Amino acid sequence: MKPKVLIYDVGGCEGCPTSILRELNKLMNIADIHSKHLGEVNIDNNYDIAVITGPLCINVPEKIEIVRKIREKSKILIAYGSCSSVGGITLFSRGGQDPKPEHRTFQPISAVVDVDYSIPGCPPAPTTLVSLINGLKTGKSPLLRIFAAIAKVRKLSGFDLMDEVVLSGLCVGCGACVLSCPTHALQMIEKRSDLIVEKCIRCGTCCSRCPVFTRILIYKEKPQVKLLGGETE
Ligand code: SF4
Ligand code: SF4
Repeated sequence: MKPKVLIYDVGGCEGCPTSILRELNKLMNIADIHSKHLGEVNIDNNYDIAVITGPLCINVPEKIEIVRKIREKSKILIAYGSCSSVGGITLFSRGGQDPKPEHRTFQPISAVVDVDYSIPGCPPAPTTLVSLINGLKTGKSPLLRIFAAIAKVRKLSGFDLMDEVVLSGLCVGCGACVLSCPTHALQMIEKRSDLIVEKCIRCGTCCSRCPVFTRILIYKEKPQVKLLGGETE
């Protein structure tokens, strides 16, 4: 039977839910998808998987309640996109901006609920979600451990990549981080990655693509991998 999957956007630019639509056919082949783009959704129902996109404004109590309700009703919770998973560019918000000047502080959803998997990206490649859901069925995807480890941290950026990998002398010069950065904030200098600090939007994508960083994070966090069948590793 296909898992019942809720896709719910709590705000932001809508880039993440829009990107998911690009792979909607593939997603509908492997899951029973419930999204406002396909009709009304009911967050009081139980779901096998909930995918939350968008930043959480903690000045709006109703949004916090929605996220808590979705957590309560879902076996597995995925934070999809940088805002939802690690805060991303919304961490720079200080409020007073049109059209909602009262919105001052944004946080990843892990600020208010336990998250099982976090997929950074601004937006992430939607095929990643397809692969992760397949992995949740089979337990075989390497993405499971990577995204479960990222779910344990609240912030992730090019600064972490520099500290943990490049400035620790561990960069192997593969260039994966440079290719993944949406703002071209990374460049290769003498076969090592280098950060142009003023361009970093704290999306965390580079960290999730770096083979060295992800290995270090998994070693440090020792994440629990929760599967659809209820079993954990
Ligand atoms: S360096 Fe680029 S990919 Fe990494 S967090 Fe900053 S903006 Fe995102
Ligand atoms: S992805 Fe990691 S190992 Fe590869 S160039 Fe970037 S920092 Fe270095």
